Amino acid sequence: MTLVTSLRQPSSSPPPAEGPLVDTFGRVADDLRISVTDRCNFRCTYCMPAEGLAWLPKEQILTFEELTRLLGLFVKLGVRSVKVTGGEPTVRADLPVLIRMFRDAAPDLDLSMTTNGVLLERLADPLADAGLDRVTVSLDSLVRHRFEEMTRRDALERVLAGIRAAEAAGLVPIKINCVVIGGTNETEVVDFAEWSRQHGHTIRFIEYMPLDAQHAWEREKVVPSGRILEAIDAVFPLVPVGPDQEPATSYRFADGAPGGIGVIGSVTEPFCDTCNRLRITAEGEVRACLFALDETDLRGPMRAGASDSELEALIRADVWGKWSGHRINHPDFVQPERSMSAIGG
Ligand code: SAM
Repeated sequence: MTLVTSLRQPSSSPPPAEGPLVDTFGRVADDLRISVTDRCNFRCTYCMPAEGLAWLPKEQILTFEELTRLLGLFVKLGVRSVKVTGGEPTVRADLPVLIRMFRDAAPDLDLSMTTNGVLLERLADPLADAGLDRVTVSLDSLVRHRFEEMTRRDALERVLAGIRAAEAAGLVPIKINCVVIGGTNETEVVDFAEWSRQHGHTIRFIEYMPLDAQHAWEREKVVPSGRILEAIDAVFPLVPVGPDQEPATSYRFADGAPGGIGVIGSVTEPFCDTCNRLRITAEGEVRACLFALDETDLRGPMRAGASDSELEALIRADVWGKWSGHRINHPDFVQPERSMSAIGG
C-alpha cells in the first residue's frame, strides 16, 4: 500500500514535443488498448447490469479509417503492442477487415485481442488470416452453472470451443484471464491451474476492481493475488518467471508441466510504478489510466480536420498528465463513471 503515501501529482511543465510518449514520472506508454466497440454480448455481473448499458450510437464510434489512422500515429509515437478490446470486440461487424487494415498499417506490430471467446469458433480463422497474432480469452469459471451465474450467459461450451478454434488457427500463445471474486469462483483457482497444465494456456488471475457500471464493488470480495498463489502453490508448486512487459507476475510449474500462472494484483499490489499502458475508448477518448477521471477527446478534433501533429500534441498532453498511481487504496478514491466495458479493459 505504499501508493497511499507516495501518490504525487504530475508536473505542470509542458510535455516534450518529441521522443516516446512519456509522463512526468518517467514512465513510457508503449502498450495501447484500442476499444472497437462499447457493446458486449455478455453481462458479467462484476462489469455491467443484466439489462446492459446505453450503447453509444453508431456515429459516435470511431470508423475503421479513424481507428487505423490513430493506430498508425501511436505506432509512430513508439507504441509497440496493441490489444484490440471492447466491450466485446468480436461483435464489431467486419472485425477481420479492421485487423487487416491495422496489420497493413503496422506490419511489425505485436497485435492481439482480448475477447470473451464466444464467437471465436467462427472468427478465429478469419482473424488469424487478417494478421492477428494471438488472443487473450476471458474465462471466469470451468463449471457451467457458475459460468452462467457470473456472465449471465450459458456459454461455457462455446467459449471452450472458441479457445480450441483459436489454438487451431495459430492465435497463440493463448492467455486466459479470470477475474476472481470472493464467495463466487475463488474455490476454482486450483482447478484452473490443473486445466492450465492440461491445455498449456497460461491463466492470469485478476483481482476484482472497482470498475463495475453498478458501482457495487466491495473490497471484501477482492481475493488477494497472494492468497491465490498460496492455494495453487500448495498443490502445484510454482516457480517465479523473470519480469516481462506484462503487469502480471508470472509463474511456471516447478515440475515442468505446460501452462503457467499469472496474477494481476491491481488492488492489493498495484503496479502503477511500471505501468506502460494507454487506452483509446470506442468513441475516441485517450485514457492514460484505467482509473483516470479525465480523458482527452481525439474524435472531435479528428472530425474537425486536425492534423497528425495536432493529434500528437493532444496525446502527449494526456500522457503527461498521468497520475503517479491509481487511488483505489486512498481515502479520497473516486470510481470512474465508465465501467471496464466502456473504457476498454
Ligand atoms: N469482452 C472482452 C473480454 O472479455 O476480454 C474485452 C473487454 S473486458 C471489459 C476485458 C477484461 O476486463 C475481461 O477479462 C473482464 O473480465 C475484465 N473485467 C471487467 N470488469 C472487471 C472488474 N470490475 N474487475 C476486474 N476485471 C474486470
